[in-house]
Amino acid sequence: MSNTDTRKTEGSRRRVDVIVVGAGFAGMYATYRFREMGKSVVGVEAAGDVGGVWYWNRYPGARCDLMSVDYSYGFSEEIQQEWTWSEQFASQEEILAYANFVADRLDLRKHYNFNTRVVSAVWDDAARLWRATTDSGETLEAPFCIMSTGPLSIPKDPDIAGIDRFKGQLLRAQKWPHTPVSFEGKRVGVIGTGSTGIQIIQTVGRQAVELFVFQRTPSFTLPMRNHKLEPDYVAEMKRHYPAMREAMRNNPTGGTRPATSRPYFSLPPSQRLQAMEQAWINGGHTFLGSFADLLTNQEANDQVADFVREKIGEIVKDPKVAEALKPRGYPIFARRPCLDTEYYETYNLPNVHLVDVASDPIVEITEKGIRTQSGETELDILIFATGYDALTGALLAFDVVGRNGRTLKEKWKSGARSHLGIMIEGFPNLFATGGPNGPAALANLITIAEHDVDWIADMITYMEANGLATVEPTPEAEEAWMKLVVSLAERSLIRKANTWWVGANVKGKPQGLTMFLGGFHKYRELCAAAAQDRSSQFVFDRARESAAA
Ligand code: NAP
Repeated sequence: MSNTDTRKTEGSRRRVDVIVVGAGFAGMYATYRFREMGKSVVGVEAAGDVGGVWYWNRYPGARCDLMSVDYSYGFSEEIQQEWTWSEQFASQEEILAYANFVADRLDLRKHYNFNTRVVSAVWDDAARLWRATTDSGETLEAPFCIMSTGPLSIPKDPDIAGIDRFKGQLLRAQKWPHTPVSFEGKRVGVIGTGSTGIQIIQTVGRQAVELFVFQRTPSFTLPMRNHKLEPDYVAEMKRHYPAMREAMRNNPTGGTRPATSRPYFSLPPSQRLQAMEQAWINGGHTFLGSFADLLTNQEANDQVADFVREKIGEIVKDPKVAEALKPRGYPIFARRPCLDTEYYETYNLPNVHLVDVASDPIVEITEKGIRTQSGETELDILIFATGYDALTGALLAFDVVGRNGRTLKEKWKSGARSHLGIMIEGFPNLFATGGPNGPAALANLITIAEHDVDWIADMITYMEANGLATVEPTPEAEEAWMKLVVSLAERSLIRKANTWWVGANVKGKPQGLTMFLGGFHKYRELCAAAAQDRSSQFVFDRARESAAA
């Protein structure tokens, strides 16, 4: 079949070489990469177009808190030369425009079925292929299936009674309308003070007549200090892109932020303070690059947290509000650190009100607004910025059935297990990009996507060159990877906060840190080593009766 033939044929079966689920940055690159290998590829995407999380998250103030030159593809010198970023931290509009530019430039859309969901993906061991059925009634068959479903793609409503009763406008950050929303003259409520809520609050607080922030857990947020990029800087960047991408591949964050090996207490107190002041002035995630042990040394972490709490106290004029905004009870950076633009200053505006729902809990959502224990707040618009069923949510949102009829839900009932975050024992020829137990939430997702897709492409090339039909990790290799993931997690302060990083935000979800904390550079090395050690880490199947490679 032609590698461009991806027409939707309802109720039909279609056989291709590779199925790619998702048209975010990972899915787009996978589609391109496999097409360039001469494969027929069909992509399935629930959204109406490319962009993944950036397609859906059109809320006011949406912006990436990784630097734009980092958070972009490195696989094509042409693309990085042709595209010019306008700001240090790009807005959602600009990132989505970039995704569209890439899709046009590489002619990717023709491979995709948009507005379409996979409802099940089932491995047929006899035929040695994945059968993915979509909600359009089509069944796609392919020997290889790539899950580029994203670590943050299943939105989560708050567990509050009465959501359906609200008669005003209810908006979800992660499914924001495509038409403009006016806050002028409106009383607006926001639930959620993570990265999403902070961006909404600092923006809507300057537009609405009244803004009520229903805060359960304050986040630590640091100044983003965003700015326009000067043409000279952009030109310099473009000259050095190849070297920069190489440096990113060897960096723990998969970005350009310099890493340090300097422990916090290696400096005398005055120099530590100076380093923190400088990090505050520089903005971005420079704090994390200032000391090596902020996530392993509780005492160092406490001192940095105190420094940020002091800053909050200096900015927020009302001492009671300042106190309520100061995060306590969990280590700084154990929740995903947020970057903001005058977030704390927003609370000095007379129209912005902090409702501390830790001390005055939400009882229910009513027809008119929100009722806390102390009374009802009437609202015209209510915004949920309440996060995601992250990391595993999208892979468990439909039936994925592996060898011998075993479902992924069953395999992962006590927590997500995988080898390298890419492959899963018992699920041959199924690959995830940015999957659970990889470095997904802790490093640049585009760098990870490019790495994972290249790794998968190398594996498929190797299989084809050696006449191998199927691959899956051995139970021992998966177990060894999981032991490493857990042992790294045990040393980190991250497990001390109740966040989506540990699955604590979803009722009934198995708790645990399903992320590789060793840094992207180390992850890359370990993936390369696994690829070298193929015969002991993976089971290949040449013929149904043979299991050895
Ligand atoms: P999140 O970090 O999980 O935050 C969800 C918020 O909703 C929390 O403050 C949570 O409070 C609150 N919440 C949930 N249920 C509630 C309830 N019943 N009552 C009161 N509050 C409730 O989700 P997110 O802000 O969408 O961020 C998710 C991730 O997306 C980020 O960590 C980041 O990786 C990514 N992101 C990045 C950017 C960026 O690049 N700038 C922007 C947005 C998102 P509790 O903590 O008390 O549960």
